[in-house]
Amino acid sequence: MATITFIGLGNMGGPMATNLVKAGHDLTVFDLSSEAVKALTSEGAKSAATIQEAVEGAEVVISMLPAGKHVESVYLGDNGLLKNLPSSTLVIDSSTIAPETAKDVAQAAVEAGITFMDAPVSGGVGGAKAGTLTFICGGEADAFERARPILDAMAKNIFHAGPHGAGQIAKICNNMLLAILMSGTSEALALGVKNGLDPAVLSEIMKQSSGGNWALNVYNPWPGVMEGVPASRNYEGGFLVDLMNKDLGLAFDNAVKNHAPIPMGSLARNLFELHASEGNGGLDFSSIQKFYYRGQN
Ligand code: NAD
Repeated sequence: MATITFIGLGNMGGPMATNLVKAGHDLTVFDLSSEAVKALTSEGAKSAATIQEAVEGAEVVISMLPAGKHVESVYLGDNGLLKNLPSSTLVIDSSTIAPETAKDVAQAAVEAGITFMDAPVSGGVGGAKAGTLTFICGGEADAFERARPILDAMAKNIFHAGPHGAGQIAKICNNMLLAILMSGTSEALALGVKNGLDPAVLSEIMKQSSGGNWALNVYNPWPGVMEGVPASRNYEGGFLVDLMNKDLGLAFDNAVKNHAPIPMGSLARNLFELHASEGNGGLDFSSIQKFYYRGQN
């Protein structure tokens, strides 16, 4: 078992840290929210007064922070952790951030002799709670092998996408595709319903036909077609439209920097931004269905 410090105990980090405690790791946690820390200490984790104190003696540091600027402020600069950690430390950042930011932090880590890996996740809060996340890692092969047994307590799948930043690139590619296929699925369902078809029957037909996809299989966006999905509870919970917009923004910025054409991704981004601007940012992303069935349901 390892001595681990976990930084960022929000919707994702909280349950991920809990699973590390349950797996028997010696865990110290840090968050700006004392409530979030308290929830973890009640599970058996230790707390610390400062982030510097929290990482004392840590073999592994894991962070799960909102965005790139938080990751930069935690690791870089004169007060950043990379200035304080011993070179034997393995740092795993699971936040979803720009690949360029992940590469910058990795470069600073390399200069400090510290092993760094970007390891964003897919699977949402449900996966974080169940310990069934998919980790998409970027970094050296030996860092990946060192991280694997730690990530195991929180994961169903662990992939090595490539060098530093590759985890973040794979993650934004996946989420851009997810936005496109969820919009496309919603569009097709709405067209069928507009023509009098039963959305459940149409879903089953497309599932078994060439339009079959993940949304139809496990996350149907039409209310009432599938039990247990956000669409059947007024789009509450799940993966928020605001978070999808964050990831689509990262994909868009990356595409611009790399002169990569993403017409479908750009359209999906516009669609989800419009959807958020109409007050839907706090709903699950499958609520994009509402954009298409205006007045129908
Ligand atoms: P969240 O906002 O619920 O949690 C972030 C936590 O970080 C908060 O508790 C906050 O207090 C803490 N924090 C912020 N700055 C800090 C600092 N300097 N030091 C210590 N703690 C600090 O966010 P979340 O939903 O848990 O998401 C975390 C990351 O995971 C994001 O990058 C997000 O894009 C990604 N992600 C989220 C989901 C999801 O479904 N929520 C799914 C996949 C990936």
